[in-house]
Amino acid sequence: MVTLGIESTAHTASVGIVTEEAEVLGLASSMYRPAKGGIHPREAANHHVATFPRLLRESLDQARVRPSEVDAIAFAQGPGLGPCLRAGATVARTLALRWDRPLVPVNHCVAHLEIARVLSGLEDPMLLYASGGNTQVVAHGSGRYRVLGETLDVGIGNFLDKLWISLGGTFPGGPEIEKAALKGVELLTLPYSVHGMDVAFSGMLTASLALHRKGARREDLAFSVEVTAYSMLTEITERALAHRRRGSVVLGGGVACNGRLRKMVQEMVEARGGRFFAPPNRLCVDNGAMIAWTGGLAHRSGLAVPVEASAVDPRQRTDRVLAPWRGTVG
Ligand code: AMP
Ligand code: MG
Repeated sequence: MVTLGIESTAHTASVGIVTEEAEVLGLASSMYRPAKGGIHPREAANHHVATFPRLLRESLDQARVRPSEVDAIAFAQGPGLGPCLRAGATVARTLALRWDRPLVPVNHCVAHLEIARVLSGLEDPMLLYASGGNTQVVAHGSGRYRVLGETLDVGIGNFLDKLWISLGGTFPGGPEIEKAALKGVELLTLPYSVHGMDVAFSGMLTASLALHRKGARREDLAFSVEVTAYSMLTEITERALAHRRRGSVVLGGGVACNGRLRKMVQEMVEARGGRFFAPPNRLCVDNGAMIAWTGGLAHRSGLAVPVEASAVDPRQRTDRVLAPWRGTVG
């Protein structure tokens, strides 16, 4: 069985083709990069509309799959930016009608977890999902995925991007901050904002910009922001592990490409005797393969919908959707 997945929740348009054995047959992605400033939802959506025909062709060519060999069409239903989600959903509906195939909605956060879970071979890991718009610790329990902790304001990636753009850089800021941080030497004191299982970043943004105005070096700021923010994420992940008596952790989201974050979480998990896994970067960032894989799971559980019932949901919560392929206990 082969599923085609469409991802378009934010800046990345992507088409993935995946088998029932989680083999990625084809994956073609294109990221919208604003000339300056952050993401403008309408412009990102225009980019997606313009690039989907090419991405579709590329992924089918890579997979050496004909449309008649695709068994289901999956798309990211939410959470995400409304115009971007609608661009992807429109492509998915068109393919489902044209090729007469089932249409399967997928929650984007659950897809990050499921692709990491299958690649890791871990049965019931916890997910630290650190991306542009989302920052959550997620685990399965009683038939659904549950959000155990999350950001109270912006996603960590948006925070990093905003900081870097305010310091004169360009989007995306996370990878540039990672490079600058390697040259940092002084650990500056920044607000460490952990509230139980939750975190917040806006205070750190304000404090970082204030330190910059007082002459702090970009490299030291980058280093200090990474150490502080990633310590916060490591702490809430560890607390969630302790409360839920879980052992293993998988990472997902663009910020999960970061070497320092990977190392810090890995050390914490292994010190507790658990196992750690982070997918390769192309499957860590937003991608159509994770939507295809999770769509396949959902389809085999009977979760296809008619086109009339396939509206996108920009605020769809991880725990609003069912995950029957995981069973109802746990
Ligand atoms: P996503 O929303 O999951 O596609 O991830 C995009 C976010 O990941 C952006 O905010 C990027 O700045 C961030 N990002 C990508 N690579 C890195 C990295 N190496 N370190 C930190 N953040 C990163
Ligand atoms: Mg994502």
